[in-house]
Amino acid sequence: MAFLDRTARSLLLSELLSGLGLTLRYMFKPKVTVNYPYEKGPLSPRFRGEHALRRYQNGEERCIACKLCEAICPAQAITIEAEPRADGSRRTTRYDIDMTKCIYCGFCEEACPVDAIVEGPNFEFAAESREELMYNKDKLLANGDRWEEELAARLTADAPYR
Ligand code: SF4
Ligand code: SF4
Repeated sequence: MAFLDRTARSLLLSELLSGLGLTLRYMFKPKVTVNYPYEKGPLSPRFRGEHALRRYQNGEERCIACKLCEAICPAQAITIEAEPRADGSRRTTRYDIDMTKCIYCGFCEEACPVDAIVEGPNFEFAAESREELMYNKDKLLANGDRWEEELAARLTADAPYR
């Protein structure tokens, strides 16, 4: 019986026709895929992407070298060195993140008392070498300058829940 059933289905092309029917049904439904990279899906304000160091509006670095982010980082990916400036303020002389160690947990951002280190919306920072993923202070500040508008908007959107 099973043999006859299989033969009849092969001769009548029933599986092919049901497959074509399925294709036709979905052809006119709204598309669930996006045409990446030309289209991108929505991102939550809490999305944890590439790191950035932010500045105040007057250009001064937010980071006060308290090293809380370095202490809390479970991957020990952050290295900070600091010195007092001539005016007595404390700022980092070195702020490195080894992005190959980072597990994007967001603890550094949570620990920071001045919203200096943040994880932004950028997820397109794939690199071809390990060296490119060793971020230094200049790179992180440049990220902050580039993404500040989005970073500030995301922090504002998330503020009521923090
Ligand atoms: S996101 Fe987590 S693992 Fe990455 S640098 Fe921050 S604290 Fe460390
Ligand atoms: S980024 Fe924030 S937590 Fe880390 S050293 Fe600077 S001020 Fe402290």
